[in-house]
Amino acid sequence: MKIIKPSYEILDPIDGQAILKKLELIGRVSHKSEDHITETSAAPFVKKLIDLGDESVLEHVSITVRFICDRGVSHELVRHRLAAFTQESTRFCNYSQDKFGNQLTFIQPCFLHDMTGGKIPNSFGYTSDDNVWYYAMRDAEAAYFGMLREGAKSEEARSVLPNSLKTELIMTANLRELRHILQLRCSKRAHPQCRELMIPLLHELQSKIPIVFDDIAERINHE
Ligand SMILES: Cc1cc2nc3c(=O)[nH]c(=O)nc-3n(C[C@H](O)[C@H](O)[C@H](O)COP(=O)(O)OP(=O)(O)OC[C@H]3O[C@@H](n4cnc5c(N)ncnc54)[C@H](O)[C@@H]3O)c2cc1C
Repeated sequence: MKIIKPSYEILDPIDGQAILKKLELIGRVSHKSEDHITETSAAPFVKKLIDLGDESVLEHVSITVRFICDRGVSHELVRHRLAAFTQESTRFCNYSQDKFGNQLTFIQPCFLHDMTGGKIPNSFGYTSDDNVWYYAMRDAEAAYFGMLREGAKSEEARSVLPNSLKTELIMTANLRELRHILQLRCSKRAHPQCRELMIPLLHELQSKIPIVFDDIAERINHE
């Protein structure tokens, strides 16, 4: 079995200034005020849209993100109905195959000691929770491969797979929905493993697209 950390990757090249200019052009159609566009007008215009709650304009730009996370976190993300998702299938992936290293991959829970890279919990510093989790994953892997050996299909053997199983999830969401998702999933009320993934995503988006995520980041910082 393999234990890895969660990660994400933004699949689109992002040009924040171009996004702001596009949003301004679209937003100004309603009042036919395109003649007010200048070299510097996009950022304050988009900020005003957000301050006024005129967020439908943000729906004209979408971002695609690939998440590598556990199944528990993926269950939370796929609840966001206005995003599009494609997910690694435990029905169709047979983890006994070479392309999966003939093993299961699990996501390191951020609240346990680091067990990535083959570190097993038999050394000083590990807690009983580390041990319970590690051996539960080992037992789940043994049960999964046991069912396959007995002739089960992968869609049947998956019944013993735990929430910590690694999954890949591609999510495409427009900026309005992304703001909503990040607001909910970066909050202190969100699951720590969801926050572990989404807070760096929020900061990266904020650094690449001016204005659009500033208020969300500000709110999260002051919670
Ligand atoms: C901290 C936390 C704890 C949670 N705990 C649980 C739990 O214990 N059990 C559980 O089942 N879920 C739980 N959830 C999931 C939660 O109930 C939502 O399903 C999830 O956050 C998706 O959010 P959403 O419905 O606002 O938004 P999305 O599906 O992302 O939709 C975005 C927005 O569009 C609008 N919208 C979308 N669809 C409709 C619709 N059909 N009708 C009207 N408006 C719509 C709403 O304004 C919505 O906020 C939890 C979520 C969080 C963040």
